[in-house]
Amino acid sequence: MADKDYYKILGVEKGAAKDEIKKAYKKLAMKYHPDRAPEDKKKEYEEEFKEISEAASVLSDDKKRQQYDQFGSSAFSGGAGGAGGGAGFEGFDYSDIMSQFRSGTFGNFDEMFEQIFSGSGRGGKGGGGRGRRRGADLLYETKITLKDVATGTDRTIELNKLEHCPDCQGKGALHFEDCHHCHGSGSIKQTHRTPFGIFQQVGPCPYCHGRGELGQDKCSACGGEGLIRQRKKIEVTIPAGVEEGMRLRIPGEGEVSSQGSQSGDLYVVVHILPHEYFQRKGNDIHLTVPISFTQAVIGDEIEVPTLTGTGKAKLKIPAGTQSETIFRMKEKGLPLIDYSRETGDQMVKVRIEVPAKLSKKQLELIRQLQEEKPSKSFFEKIFG
Ligand SMILES: [Zn+2]
Ligand SMILES: [Zn+2]
Repeated sequence: MADKDYYKILGVEKGAAKDEIKKAYKKLAMKYHPDRAPEDKKKEYEEEFKEISEAASVLSDDKKRQQYDQFGSSAFSGGAGGAGGGAGFEGFDYSDIMSQFRSGTFGNFDEMFEQIFSGSGRGGKGGGGRGRRRGADLLYETKITLKDVATGTDRTIELNKLEHCPDCQGKGALHFEDCHHCHGSGSIKQTHRTPFGIFQQVGPCPYCHGRGELGQDKCSACGGEGLIRQRKKIEVTIPAGVEEGMRLRIPGEGEVSSQGSQSGDLYVVVHILPHEYFQRKGNDIHLTVPISFTQAVIGDEIEVPTLTGTGKAKLKIPAGTQSETIFRMKEKGLPLIDYSRETGDQMVKVRIEVPAKLSKKQLELIRQLQEEKPSKSFFEKIFG
């Protein structure tokens, strides 16, 4: 893999500060956001977006940046490129960002920056200091068939996850009284003494977490936690053209948090089951079908199964077709997940079947054919 100049890609100096990198990335990401691509330039925008995201994720991480300065981008290369290909380098899951905008959940730039610039993604150090913890993200793996890939599918998934306790609505208690620290206002005045003078600041009351009231008992259903583990069914729409290993993000369907802050997200990883007859290569479908010797010789029109449409399509076999010939059935393959390019094709390989059992009459006809010795010239050529 050729070495990439991440600084050049983002248009910044080699010694650029993190803020400059962030700014440069934001500007470029706005420009090349795949949603803004003109119809005929979707692929280029996608590639560009991928490139700048990769550059930003490396340069915004001190450790990776140092590695990059020392060894170049090959220090991070791994997976092959290609449409929607997985993470090419450590720690940055590009496919996640791709699936976000593809599934329509993408669009919150600030959240995306947070994801890229926080280094290790969400959870960890992100959001620290505010005292409010976001609910945990959940991961769910699901298997679908190739037919599902062709049409897209809806799945009901069942999760056992933390939810707000229905008895106390997540408050942890059933009876409340005004918080005596903040007198029920939920906020508290704090005085800071600094060399520049005394400052007063109003912030949320730390005793009642800004609620203005304090529980007088513990909810027995949840033991005062406000949270309870429950089975929950969630409808997930898996788009047509989805690729193996792709992660779909369902915002807010992760676990809730006890402080009543934002819920986590649910990630659904899609796995595609192999098909007995159809094989996927990119968005093309490969299939082998048998034809008879006579069909190959005099030609025919046959019906070939497909994954899309009515489930079958007509294919013309021209006279004199050789075994193993591959015919291309245009746009009978899989749709692309973001519809940015044409639908794939179905490649049909025909295999001439040699009959094992023949009637007397058939055998006689074949014998007559043999007497014609149609391929004699071939042997004459070889043996001289
Ligand atoms: Zn209070
Ligand atoms: Zn409760």
